[in-house]
Amino acid sequence: MWRATVLTIFPEMFPGPLGLSLAGKALVAGVWSLDALDIRAHATDRRNTVDDTPAGGGPGLVMKADVLARAIDAAASDSRPRLLMSPRGTPLTQARVAALAKGDGVVVVCGRYEGIDERVIAARQLEEVSIGDYVLSGGEIAALALIDACVRLLPGVMGKQASGAEESFADGLLEYPQYTRPAVFEGQPIPEVLTSGDHAKVRAWRQAEAERLTRERRPDLWAAYEARRKIAPKPPKP
Ligand code: SAH
Repeated sequence: MWRATVLTIFPEMFPGPLGLSLAGKALVAGVWSLDALDIRAHATDRRNTVDDTPAGGGPGLVMKADVLARAIDAAASDSRPRLLMSPRGTPLTQARVAALAKGDGVVVVCGRYEGIDERVIAARQLEEVSIGDYVLSGGEIAALALIDACVRLLPGVMGKQASGAEESFADGLLEYPQYTRPAVFEGQPIPEVLTSGDHAKVRAWRQAEAERLTRERRPDLWAAYEARRKIAPKPPKP
């Protein structure tokens, strides 16, 4: 079973949306498991303090290293990757998601406030992972996004759809446009090639559209795709 352990001061946010739809069914079926553990349970003072003012001054609060370290030690002693959701982290990619989904699961630490004491990151070997270049108010929504992306790839969760072969990013391209009935919507027909029944033509059209969309929208992905596609240069003619 693929196991997700989440450390948070808001365990009631889980499973949240992951309790619904296909992820929720797979959770009930035991394809994966989710433990949302309350960091606050590891506070030692009477007020259950998990945060304190930043050393050096400045606004906000910082999550305490000692409390968080105790929570991590109590939660996970296995070899699953220990991730810290963080806007400073390595941007999450579909390739990383696929690798995580192939493993035993994840331990995910959710920050709040201004983030967590730097020392606990190294002391507990937390790997910082970002879900994008914007700032959330806490790591919980980021953790839900990461776990959702992993769970849909687990065998039996989505059936064939998430086999990955044709999805966005699978081959470094964005997905081609999709259509379904009605045949004409507000005067707009479905592209003729898709109703032609000619599978080779459909495949070629989809590939061309995926390339066009990637070139137009994501020059970064397009450059990487082109670099991979380039055949090794021919040796110079004598
Ligand atoms: N002061 C910090 C932001 C803290 S936001 C900074 O400028 O880097 C509070 C928490 O939300 C973070 O500790 C992290 O767990 C989570 N978070 C915010 N944005 C995120 C993002 N883009 N990806 C992953 N986690 C994020």
